Amino acid sequence: MQWTCPIRTGAETRPDAPALTFAGQGWTYRELDLEVGRWVGALRARGVTAGDRVALLATNHAVGVFLFLALGRLGAVLVPLNARLTRAELQPLTEDISPRLTLALTNLAERLPDAEPLESFADALGAPDSHCVPLETKTPRVILFTSGTTGRPKGAVLTEGNFRASARCSEANLGPHPAPRWLGTLPLFHVGGLAMLTRTAYDGGCLVLRERFEADDTNRAIDEEGITHASFVATTLERVLDARKDRPVPSTFRLALIGGGPVPAPLLERARAAGILSLQTYGLTEACSQVTTERPDEADGRTAGRPLPGLELRIVGPGGEAVGPGREGDIEVRGPTVMAGYWNRPEATSEALRDGWLRTKDLGVLDERGRLTVLSRRTDLIVRGGENIYPAELEAVLAAHPAVQEAAVVGVPDGRWGEVPVAFVATRNGVPLPEDLGTWCRESLAGFKVPARFLSIEALPRNAMGKVERTVLRQRAQAA
Ligand code: AMP
Ligand code: MG
Ligand code: MG
Repeated sequence: MQWTCPIRTGAETRPDAPALTFAGQGWTYRELDLEVGRWVGALRARGVTAGDRVALLATNHAVGVFLFLALGRLGAVLVPLNARLTRAELQPLTEDISPRLTLALTNLAERLPDAEPLESFADALGAPDSHCVPLETKTPRVILFTSGTTGRPKGAVLTEGNFRASARCSEANLGPHPAPRWLGTLPLFHVGGLAMLTRTAYDGGCLVLRERFEADDTNRAIDEEGITHASFVATTLERVLDARKDRPVPSTFRLALIGGGPVPAPLLERARAAGILSLQTYGLTEACSQVTTERPDEADGRTAGRPLPGLELRIVGPGGEAVGPGREGDIEVRGPTVMAGYWNRPEATSEALRDGWLRTKDLGVLDERGRLTVLSRRTDLIVRGGENIYPAELEAVLAAHPAVQEAAVVGVPDGRWGEVPVAFVATRNGVPLPEDLGTWCRESLAGFKVPARFLSIEALPRNAMGKVERTVLRQRAQAA
């Protein structure tokens, strides 16, 4: 299979349709095509050719979109680097990928010694260059370092075929839209942000890109900018709902995808009651974002939904055999969205991919209708005296306490039980920890699951994607 740049196609078929907005500026498909062409010219002048890697250190910005699309026309690979990483964390990553060119927003450039300021690169662009190589299904488009909380980061190689399939499978599940307008608040250095970009580009839609998530701004975009789709994690959805109060949601808004970590069912219920159809999704970098997502017509927020059409999912038991509904085990995924492998890491690749099946390192269970419940990452599982405890279950119970803002549960070593759960709790408006937390848990949880200790915390430590940094909490729990 061969593909051409979707923006080139869009410029031919729907030149005046909006393709991108950012910071008060807008680009139609024709305008975006020309802008991307100018980037192609500048990159070629710098000797960037097929297979080369170009590293980018930036928060969300229109130039990130231009660069991703221009590299596609050259058959070259974008390596988006997490804008939160320190100089020491970035260095091994750039060494690993040996980029032809490294670009960074000026305010971040000091963290990458070899980086050129993006702004000056963009200022020096010349005339558009129409060069555009056809892309194969297997052509690498992006190397994305996973936000893995343990070990050396691994770069997942995602191909043109992965992004095409991800957009196609997502649309097959959510249903087509004549003119989608995705609100782009997820970072473009994460698969969730890149998937929004490619989804809109391949569907002829518009990416309404934002530098960062902000609750009031999100609501303004929903009310005034005709947003049809958005993606949030649980905490950002909650902030959107808190800031919205009872304002009605315009009929232009269709749905929001909620994932990236555990998603409490009551939160999705609350969102739907407020008029924001919110669907739980389960995905990961190595599968180019969504793997399962609730279907709009059967969403109840209680599961992460079924595999997208075109993907296979199985639960594997301890003996390596696929198990049936109701049995817990390791989640494995197969299909056209699964990465080519990890960059420069043949051993990690063959450990992660077997016969096309991706071992996600997540634990889950399927119901009779094939819907997935994600239980935990394998590494977050707490085993207390032989009994499995999934932190997400405890966290949902704790969060339901009226005084609790958010909670996270981690395992700490214990002489008697092997491991016991310890809860970190942030209260609403910083009130002292309620004394009835143990009783509260005991009302809905088996005794062995009740946390051994409750520790007060101002706010949970989170990474750029809003994921709780459990390694930090584990260290704090042991030190406490
Ligand atoms: P990343 O590759 O950084 O996008 O992280 C993907 C990981 O996020 C998965 O492997 C899961 O551990 C977690 N995750 C994603 N979606 C969900 C979900 N709906 N429920 C629980 N965990 C999730
Ligand atoms: Mg991962
Ligand atoms: Mg609460």
